[in-house]
Amino acid sequence: MHAFEYHRPSSLADASKLAGKGDDAKLLAGGQSLVQAMKLRLSAPSDLVDLNAIAELRGIKSDGKTVTVGAMARHAEVAASPEVKKAIPALAALAELIGDRQVRHQGTIGGSLANNDPAADYPAAVLGLGATVVTNKRKIAADEFFKGMFETALQAGEIITQVSFPVPKRAAYTKFKNPASRFAIVGVFVADTGSGVRVAVTGAGSSVFRQSEMEKALGAKFAPESVSGVKVKADGLNSDLHASAEYRAHLVGVMAKRAVEAALK
Ligand SMILES: Cc1cc2nc3c(=O)[nH]c(=O)nc-3n(C[C@H](O)[C@H](O)[C@H](O)COP(=O)(O)OP(=O)(O)OC[C@H]3O[C@@H](n4cnc5c(N)ncnc54)[C@H](O)[C@@H]3O)c2cc1C
Repeated sequence: MHAFEYHRPSSLADASKLAGKGDDAKLLAGGQSLVQAMKLRLSAPSDLVDLNAIAELRGIKSDGKTVTVGAMARHAEVAASPEVKKAIPALAALAELIGDRQVRHQGTIGGSLANNDPAADYPAAVLGLGATVVTNKRKIAADEFFKGMFETALQAGEIITQVSFPVPKRAAYTKFKNPASRFAIVGVFVADTGSGVRVAVTGAGSSVFRQSEMEKALGAKFAPESVSGVKVKADGLNSDLHASAEYRAHLVGVMAKRAVEAALK
């Protein structure tokens, strides 16, 4: 690990100033991705701005129409939250599927979204529910947020403060997980939002993406057989030691069908 300067601001205003110190400053949330990258010398920030003492970034609230999750909410907090379980049970269930107990008690929603690992779970919920990512500078719609592998619309020094999830009529997430890390080989989030169906796929491509043919079919009839009629193409999907592109394409169909079944229960 390279030497760096460590900061622990207690307000968002101070964190924003420190994060703006230059391209080499990095934000530290749960450290589950960043610290490993630093240990491997894949990341060598000059300054580390620890967000853990900032109360404004915590908390989960719901007003019946929207669930708002603070960027520093741990995965375990989202999984156990009575507000999330009541308003969007699929989101709580997704958080419960992330990694292991240790990862869930350290990792945060803000860190996961900023990292945008192609196999991460939260991006599927954010895109599937049409959520809004709120930063210290602006609001970013889910459809504009995920730009590519480990790439988002965030600018250098921009801090995610919270994520607003509109409450859907019904939704579910199913994942075919890597048995070691529990990252998604393929995960599919299906949401019937009341103003249309959204289907978001993680793990299969270079970044989370929407499956428009399934959205159309499910919009016409929200039933598992609607998904069965869609042939998912393997072109452009990930192929690695865990699964070929063809196998992932098959899994997208299987996971989507199971998600629709779960959403209807
Ligand atoms: C063994 C293991 C298994 C895992 N399994 C899964 C899994 O099954 N599914 C899954 O989805 N994930 C999994 N993860 C990843 C985990 O969810 C991490 O918590 C997540 O990727 C990063 O969150 P973090 O809070 O630890 O962020 P950090 O590691 O602290 O930061 C990650 C990146 O985000 C930036 N960042 C952090 N917070 C903010 C913010 N508020 N605003 C802007 N930028 C910010 C940091 O600067 C850094 O670039 C796993 C991790 C491990 C170690």
